[in-house]
Parts: sequence; structure tokens; C-alpha cells
Amino acid sequence: MLRMRQIYIAWQRASFTCYNSHTCADSDFASMFEIVAFDADDTLWHNESRYQAAKQAFVRLMSAFQPPEKAAAVFDQIELGNLSLYGYGMKSFTLSMIEAALALCEGQLGGREIRAILDLGRQVLTAEVELFPHVAETIAQLAAVYPLMLITKGDASEQEQKIHRSGIGHHFRIIEIVHDKTTATYQRILAKYNLSPHRFVMIGNSLRSDILPVVRIGGIAIYLPHELTWAHELEHDGELVEGSYYQLDRFEQLPSFLSYLQETLPITSPSTAKHSG
Ligand SMILES: [Mg+2]
Repeated sequence: MLRMRQIYIAWQRASFTCYNSHTCADSDFASMFEIVAFDADDTLWHNESRYQAAKQAFVRLMSAFQPPEKAAAVFDQIELGNLSLYGYGMKSFTLSMIEAALALCEGQLGGREIRAILDLGRQVLTAEVELFPHVAETIAQLAAVYPLMLITKGDASEQEQKIHRSGIGHHFRIIEIVHDKTTATYQRILAKYNLSPHRFVMIGNSLRSDILPVVRIGGIAIYLPHELTWAHELEHDGELVEGSYYQLDRFEQLPSFLSYLQETLPITSPSTAKHSG
């Protein structure tokens, strides 16, 4: 695991010549990675900002009944408590707003408030998908070299609509929409497509969902932090050893960094590979 850290530091000091040493036409170039997988929300496009805006609007709606701090705290508690029952996504979020409103309004909740809450959810569900800078061209560039996979969690229809509206869905050879991203989830996906962990790359903004479980199965995890990442996604119950995963600052660094890994990481036969998380 220390080796990963050393590679990352070396790459930071490198002059990015490694990417220029290859072209997308090099047929052997992608031999190291069987799949390069991406998270979607807050890795490829804005998501948390939409949810935070909806939550702020909900708190304002509740201001006639309760102070903002209490409204926000009650909602947070109910939302987290409902995740195991309703799962992730705006439909779950909307149900939690209605449940929180019932608790906050103390019997005074009316049709006007429920209508306003439903409208908040609908606005998020139908909003344009806004890609992060350089995502469109970088994904197209990577898709010409590597087989790409999208692994996103949440409500299937909501995620499918966002992928369709993103305009980049066609670049992904495989799309997996899952209820949660645990070690078992990744093991199931790797088994389903007969992928080797040490040739599997996962890129995402969540330590809980995209990084820790991938490190645990012996995969290659690249952390792309986003300033508005939901606090729930930053919490995790495992130990993330420094150097067990990589971290990049900008999406457009990925082609250079993956190229660098190709040249630096040892290529091990799947039958003899040993992995540790
Ligand atoms: Mg994400």
C-alpha cells in the first residue's frame, strides 16, 4: 500500500510526459485495466448542490412553524433513518421532507405545504444535468482507450434519467445502478463481469461508497473529492490507510494519471495475484 503513495507522489512530480508517449490508437495501452469505473453523482455532475438547495427551501417552508436549525436537524435525522427503508434518491428525500414536516408542524401541516414539498422534489428530479468542467471531453478521451463502467447508487429510474440527460451515457460500456455500494456490491459486480480486482479502477467522490470498499477488495481506487459531498458519504466505519488509494484534484488529470499507473504498477497474472485491502 505504501507503493501506491510513492507512485502518487512520483506522478505529482512528473511532467506528464507519460500521457504524451501514447495515443488512443495504441492497442496495447489498455491492457493493464480491464475496466475503469466511475461514480456519477458529484463525480461527473452536480447533485449534492441540488439536494442542499431543496433542503434549504424546505427549511424556509417550515420557518412558519419551527426555527431553521430545528427544522434542518429534524430533517437530517429522519432522512438518515429512512435510508435503509427507502434507499437513496429524491423520492426518498421527498418522503423524508413530508415526514419531517409532519413532525415539525405539530398537527398544522396543510395541503399547501405538502404541495410545496412535492414541487421541491419534482424540481430536482426534472432539473438539467450539469456536468462538471472537462468531464465531457475527458470521458470521451478515456472511452477511446479504456472500457468504461458507470456504477451509481440510488433510485433506478431517477439515475437512468440523469444518465440519459447527461449526454455522456453512451461512453460507458456497462452501467450498474445499485441500492448501495458496499464491499459485497463490488464483489458481485466483479464476479458478474469476470473482472480481476487488481485490474479494476474505481473513481469517485465518496470515501464511504467509492473508495473504502474498493480498497478492501484489492481494487485501484481514485478519490476525486468534491466540496459539496454529502456528510454521509464522508463517514465510514473502516480504516482508510494513507497510501491505500489515490487522490486527484481535477477530473482532467485522469488520462495522464491512468497512463502513469499503466507504466508504473506491476502487471500481475490474475491467477497469481494477491490482494490486500
Ligand atoms: Mg458520488
